[in-house]
Amino acid sequence: MKTILNYINGNFVAPQTNAFLDNVNPSTGEIYSQIPKSGPSDVEDAVNKAEIAFKSWSDTTLEKRSEILTRIADLIEQNLDKLALAESTDNGKPLHLAKSVDIPRAAANFKFFAHALTQFYSESHESQGKDTINYTLRKPLGVVGCISPWNLPLYLLTWKIAPAIAAGNTVIAKPSEVTPMTAFLLCEICEKSGLPHGVLNMVHGLGPEAGQAIVEHPKIKAISFTGGTKTGESIARTAAPMFKKLSLELGGKNPNIIFADCDYEKMISTTLKSSFANQGQICLCGSRIFVEQVLYDKFKTDFVERVKDLKVGHPIEDNTDLGAVVSKSHLNKVKSYIDMAQQHPDMTVLCGGNMPELKQYPDGYYLKPCVIEVRDNQCQLNQEEIFGPVVSIMPFETEDEVLSMANDSAYGLSSTLWTQNLNRSMRMSQALETGIVWVNTWLNRDLRTPFGGTKQSGVGREGGFEALRFFTEPKNVCIEYS
Ligand code: NAD
Repeated sequence: MKTILNYINGNFVAPQTNAFLDNVNPSTGEIYSQIPKSGPSDVEDAVNKAEIAFKSWSDTTLEKRSEILTRIADLIEQNLDKLALAESTDNGKPLHLAKSVDIPRAAANFKFFAHALTQFYSESHESQGKDTINYTLRKPLGVVGCISPWNLPLYLLTWKIAPAIAAGNTVIAKPSEVTPMTAFLLCEICEKSGLPHGVLNMVHGLGPEAGQAIVEHPKIKAISFTGGTKTGESIARTAAPMFKKLSLELGGKNPNIIFADCDYEKMISTTLKSSFANQGQICLCGSRIFVEQVLYDKFKTDFVERVKDLKVGHPIEDNTDLGAVVSKSHLNKVKSYIDMAQQHPDMTVLCGGNMPELKQYPDGYYLKPCVIEVRDNQCQLNQEEIFGPVVSIMPFETEDEVLSMANDSAYGLSSTLWTQNLNRSMRMSQALETGIVWVNTWLNRDLRTPFGGTKQSGVGREGGFEALRFFTEPKNVCIEYS
């Protein structure tokens, strides 16, 4: 069995608690590794080392930082197969998805910020008054915390770490305790890349213990967090009295709005992905599907037929569309919504929702993709984040009606719109209360653009210069030189 260790100041170390947690492979239900159950003393040690490392790292030239980030990206690419297998084993996601999306994106995150950092310069301008010049410096913050979830483990962790260290900060990172493996492998890569010791420190453990200790630590200047809305709220409460800078990327309940004038084939094949990619465990999955009434019956028949054809199987098999759900407790949570729908007079389960019989893996956490017809957007199924292979479908008559249902949500992360009417797409993109609107596409990401949500989907934006702004403090200098 593999034992994962913390990475502090360039050393792989056991937690000071000497306690470890079991890590389960969701495809088989077997324990396959152990991870540190770190506590406040591990975080304290990491912060002290990161504080020392900050002095020289923040003084390192942009070119040098850019060179090291590029080297990390290259090493991720060279280790693609190993990292993808680890991600798939840890998380249950199809191996082909880890190979084609998750790990390449982790490399892209480092490459992107290696370039963006050199373009992120301070501005200066002459003031209106005579003989005065103003300029703005962007100073790194110091030691920062990066806390990430289990659904896109390396992809999301590197999306935080890369801009944080690019901007000259030193980092205490905590990956999800459910999917720690690629974070551990990333530390091995950073060790080889020549990243100075203490710049990246990885502390594994439970959220309320290791995670909480990071948020509570007075020397950690900012927290970049991705995870559930409830956890985000608790982090905000803890951080508020210390006036810590926060970036919170939280849950979603994203509408997928389909008008009858859409490109039907493109829409339906993309909707299969936006509903069930990564077993529906992507914060951007379109879990509420609204279809224009005139197209509704056709869509319902075709979609359900195609969902029934999706193959649920072991992640390593090439033809697997959906692998395993991440954990037993998460599987039970997702199933509880399906059970509720089965009892509910206003809901009809159209397909899936049961566990497939995979004889070789009887203890894996598999679930057939589920489509549920609902008659009221106010129902629990449409209002709460399920974060699994479950979508609802519902008809609408008018643009105003669907707009009001789409916006009638506590969340506001992303929305997807299918129409070939340019005026309508412009009107609706303006009116949808989400941080991202995709028109005739889904998960089409340009890393320069701001990423994040409104309402309970979060505070702040990641991506491009937004991330570099978050991880730096602007300082205006005004000089009168006459
Ligand atoms: P989670 O909130 O349970 O955990 C996320 C991370 O926070 C983990 O590392 C966990 O250990 C840590 N944590 C838990 N309690 C903590 C505490 N009190 N203090 C500090 N850290 C703590 O979320 P999850 O179940 O891992 O992930 C699923 C959620 O993440 C879903 O709600 C999903 O929508 C959301 N998500 C959002 C985005 C986005 O970009 N908006 C992306 C991916 C996932």
